[in-house]
Amino acid sequence: MGFPSVLTMAQRLAAERLAPGSAAIDATAGGGVDTLFLARQTGPRGRVLAFDVQEEALARTRLRLEEARAAGEALAEVTLVPAGHERMEEYVPAELHGRIRAVMFNLGYLPGSDSPVITRPETTLPALEAALRLLAPGGVLTAVLYPGHPGGDEEARAVERWMAELPDAAARTVLYCFPQKEKAPYLVALEKRQNTRPV
Ligand code: SAH
Repeated sequence: MGFPSVLTMAQRLAAERLAPGSAAIDATAGGGVDTLFLARQTGPRGRVLAFDVQEEALARTRLRLEEARAAGEALAEVTLVPAGHERMEEYVPAELHGRIRAVMFNLGYLPGSDSPVITRPETTLPALEAALRLLAPGGVLTAVLYPGHPGGDEEARAVERWMAELPDAAARTVLYCFPQKEKAPYLVALEKRQNTRPV
């Protein structure tokens, strides 16, 4: 059978907390796989915002959503935001602050692109902080980390440290990795506590 991949595991953690009509964020639209997944899970009454700094990524995501709609799938309303995820609080409507059920990050490069654009700790860490504030109590944040490329290792360690240092009263955190594969992508996730004071 094999263990689920890190991407599958991230989707499972998100799916468990999403219901028809939920609101969710894809913090790194990339090829749009997670955006489509969130739009399916939350359905026609749901709301999804997807962020990316590259037009190519948003175009790929738009195409993926259009193809699914053309095939008759009932998807959430999706807003593609051409801005960095560190600014997500500016773009998420006020009525959804504190009501987001899932935020998914998939860091690193846009696969199959020549572009040097890459996620960076200077913006990734503020984005994680913003995502935690936006989450509903009981909501989940997932981040797939890529230690295998230059800069990716430092970013992965910075994100892991950020997770490890979160106060227990704010969130519970978990790590999913394949310890025999040192440079393989791995997943960190957090669940916001039910009864937290604002963080
Ligand atoms: N490494 C993954 C894919 C990651 S895609 C894989 O191999 O499957 C990561 C996306 O994050 C890219 O499309 C990139 O443009 C985007 N990105 C980079 N910096 C960003 C930022 N500050 N805010 C939002 N998206 C960003």
